[in-house]
Amino acid sequence: MRKVTFITAFPEFLECFLAHSVIGRAVSANLLEARVVNLRDFAVNRYGQVDDYAFGSGGMVLMAEPLARAVESLADEGATVIYPSPQGVVLGQELVESLAAVEHIVLVCGHYEGVDERFVSKHVDIEVSLGDFVLTGGELPSMVLVDAVARLLPGVVGRQAAVEDDSFFRGMLDHPHFTRPAEWRGQPVPRALLSGDAAAIREWRRDEAVARTIGRRPDLLSCANIRPYLSRRPYVLVSGEVGGLPGALSQLDGLARLYGLERIILVETDENRRQELSASVPEASRDERPVFKFFKMTRQALHWVSQREDGKPFLVGLETQASEKSLHWMEGKRRILESKRPLVLGFSEEMPECEMSLAPLRGGLANEKRIDSVVMLSVFVDRFFGCR
Ligand code: SAM
Repeated sequence: MRKVTFITAFPEFLECFLAHSVIGRAVSANLLEARVVNLRDFAVNRYGQVDDYAFGSGGMVLMAEPLARAVESLADEGATVIYPSPQGVVLGQELVESLAAVEHIVLVCGHYEGVDERFVSKHVDIEVSLGDFVLTGGELPSMVLVDAVARLLPGVVGRQAAVEDDSFFRGMLDHPHFTRPAEWRGQPVPRALLSGDAAAIREWRRDEAVARTIGRRPDLLSCANIRPYLSRRPYVLVSGEVGGLPGALSQLDGLARLYGLERIILVETDENRRQELSASVPEASRDERPVFKFFKMTRQALHWVSQREDGKPFLVGLETQASEKSLHWMEGKRRILESKRPLVLGFSEEMPECEMSLAPLRGGLANEKRIDSVVMLSVFVDRFFGCR
């Protein structure tokens, strides 16, 4: 969103919002172009009429003609016209992110009983609701929407990292915040925050964000990218016959880099085949941050991880056949976060060493067709570390 236009019969509502604080600064710095169009300038008569009684009795309704004239006066066919309405789709971070990519947003503020439905069908692209309650007008929801979208625009909020740590950005809740004094009415600030130790502060914040999300909104985990909330680095362990290797090594390399996997460990008992795989590692994967590591046995690989991460790895198996012990992957995410152990996502036909098994992938039509192992692995990795 580079440009926003509010169409309202009450322009004075917007003045303070557009002149102060974060949004006021974004407007003065030309990061956001904001315009307020007075609906009464498009009235149907010289008395400034923009509303009339509802047909079939009821209160007042904003008329279609002034609203249409106001939208048409903008002469921007490409603009996204939004009508804030309790009957719209409920505003959430996903919609906010999508709207941040739109060039020009036009917000049509309803009032009284609402707006003439014929205007909505002709000119409105999306109706957006703030929630299941009714407000007196569309000005407040319009401001809420613009505020949420504008803070995602580069430069609007000073510190980008602050936006990324905020609730919902990665699908998790934010950690709690404290300011001076260090003790207030007998309540001290958590000691880790006063330590000056950046790593300890990061760890405290991560643990609090995880505890809050699991305690208050466990439903969020289904869409959350848990990668930044793991206390140790994640690994993928592939053993046995995985179709497509060695040809798929460059795809696996891309997968590891995109999702921030520390290593893809390939376990191969056969010496010749291990050498063949090792020789097929793409040149780009041998740079200063190599992706692949080879072992003969799973046990050796787990030992290597435990030494590197200074902790016993949590081996999670991805099942290809449903079994009694297979867990729903959302529950898997919760247990992984709570374990605070180095994560190894194990991928093989059989993984007797694993502590937790995740339910196999199911398609929308749940047919029996098996998919390629690299595709399957990509889906699983995306469920843990993908951004919504
Ligand atoms: N008769 C309408 C209904 O029940 O669906 C409610 C009209 S409301 C009193 C007046 C205006 O406030 C609406 O046209 C809309 O622009 C705005 N509004 C009210 N509640 C809203 C909500 N939850 N989300 C977004 N906009 C809302």
